[in-house]
Amino acid sequence: MRTHDCGALRASDVGKQVRLQGWVNRRRDLGGLVFVDLRDRHGMTQVVVEPDDAAAFAAAEGVRSEYVVEVEGTVRLRPEGQRSQRLATGEVEVVASALTVLSPARTPPFLVDGSVDASEVSEDLRLRYRYLDLRRPEALRPLLVRHRVVKAIWDFLDARGFTQVETPLLTLSTPEGARDFLVPARQAPGSFYALPQSPQLFKQLLMIAGLDRYFQVARCFRDEDLRADRQPDFTQLDLEMSFVDEDDVLALNEELMAHVVREAIGAEVATPFPRLSYREAMERYGSDKPDVRFGFELLDVSATLANSGFRGFSAALEAGGVVKALLVPAEQAAPLTRKALSELEEHAKRHGAKGLAWLKRTAEGFSGPAAKFLSDAETAALAELAGGEGATLLLVADEWKRASTALGAVRLRLPGLLGLELDDAQLAFLWVVDFPLLELDDDSGAYTYMHHPFTRPRDSDLELMESDPGSVRAHAYDLVLNGSEVGGGSLRIHRLDVQERMFAALGFSREEARRRFGFFLEALAYGAPPHGGIAWGLDRLVMLLAGTGSIRDTIAFPKNQRGADPLTGAPGPVDAEQLAELGLALKPAEPGSR
Ligand code: ASP
Repeated sequence: MRTHDCGALRASDVGKQVRLQGWVNRRRDLGGLVFVDLRDRHGMTQVVVEPDDAAAFAAAEGVRSEYVVEVEGTVRLRPEGQRSQRLATGEVEVVASALTVLSPARTPPFLVDGSVDASEVSEDLRLRYRYLDLRRPEALRPLLVRHRVVKAIWDFLDARGFTQVETPLLTLSTPEGARDFLVPARQAPGSFYALPQSPQLFKQLLMIAGLDRYFQVARCFRDEDLRADRQPDFTQLDLEMSFVDEDDVLALNEELMAHVVREAIGAEVATPFPRLSYREAMERYGSDKPDVRFGFELLDVSATLANSGFRGFSAALEAGGVVKALLVPAEQAAPLTRKALSELEEHAKRHGAKGLAWLKRTAEGFSGPAAKFLSDAETAALAELAGGEGATLLLVADEWKRASTALGAVRLRLPGLLGLELDDAQLAFLWVVDFPLLELDDDSGAYTYMHHPFTRPRDSDLELMESDPGSVRAHAYDLVLNGSEVGGGSLRIHRLDVQERMFAALGFSREEARRRFGFFLEALAYGAPPHGGIAWGLDRLVMLLAGTGSIRDTIAFPKNQRGADPLTGAPGPVDAEQLAELGLALKPAEPGSR
């Protein structure tokens, strides 16, 4: 029907007869002429309707924003002085000989013509009318980046001998540490499917089946409390490889990522990516997903303060903990006002610290609440560390992980507070490796898996599984980009006896392990190849590559921050009849619950 899309015409097309179709971005009536900016997802073309063409002119006068129209006419150069650099079609316009309305449109609830910044419209309104929102080129752009990311993944992995396989959505629980979404089974009243938290067990079964190399751009579902950058249904690039060691998986992922970044946004990333052990990442950055685009590494001043007279320090040290410190040098410390320091303290407390001590270098020694407890030797040692007058040390004393984590959270506040510009175009990829296999759960006091229960312990640490489970290291790795985890994976347990020991370390009885994972344990007994893989969080990766502020921007029809879809109204009630068919009855809502 159309001869060109709305972004196609150039000076070389002058004189051509064309037929365009699209949305009226804006209509302007100027000096007896009507200008219509015609828009589609490819671009915008200026259409001029002159009064001597009475029928077209009358039609043009009737159109309003977001009408869908067809225009026939001739391409001509715009008059000198009216050419636009901003538009790809900005040198030309189409003089209409006919203009037909294909669909009228209501006045949209918010302007999509580029004159209003999206941030001025409430997100719920944009999501309620997402089909209008997506008419804005900036809203569409992340979806186009996403498309290129997925295409690059397919092309690369296909060339490397990977096979794409779809795994079931109606399945049994696949544990990744979140709650399951359940689907009642009508045919088996009282039974439920779970939506997969990941395809983990299926991809391992595919390795046992001999598939060798698998991938899937997989929908996953986790019923978690929503944080700013989470969605209940989200997408992973899921992949798995047989007969590989850790280096093989990491190297393939580095090449794949470099290819994806090049194809999606035209940027180059250097490989191999730096690797940090979990221990080192926590020590230096107080995070297992460190943002290494800026310094301010954490220091350990436990030795200096070993005999501290300050209870806050000595109590932590006596209990086997540490005193971690952040140093803000004198030249940068001006923004650390009392108010800023007390805000940082609140932030540290929200991340588990009991408090945040600070020591500010003065001509004589230090000022700050803990300063009067410092001995001369401590003052001298810390002064040498801190440097010139005004330099400030921020300190957290606690058990190692808690102190590191809390101060790591404070560290992330520093760029904003101190006015350091972090370059989002810089893509600081790195691997965090050598995770512990298990960690103690603060609430239950029992060991729980750090990655998932199928992660392979290092062979050399296997003998510690029963005697000292907390010190067993795993073949697990996370892929980090600019302080966000964009992927995580591991080598897997491929031996039934090891898998049984893992379940035992997690406190599963044999019966419970059989009941929940019997089918998988059985499969392991039939000859499993050594295998391993990874999953990338695709939404988050696209968000970072496209430079948008939220993963919702990368999803065509996302849920809002309350897990609801303002467009369809999901989640919603169902008919009594549907419930009856499923053999379900609803309890009356408790007062005060939603
Ligand atoms: N199944 C894991 C996850 O979803 C990824 C992996 O281990 O490959 O995080």
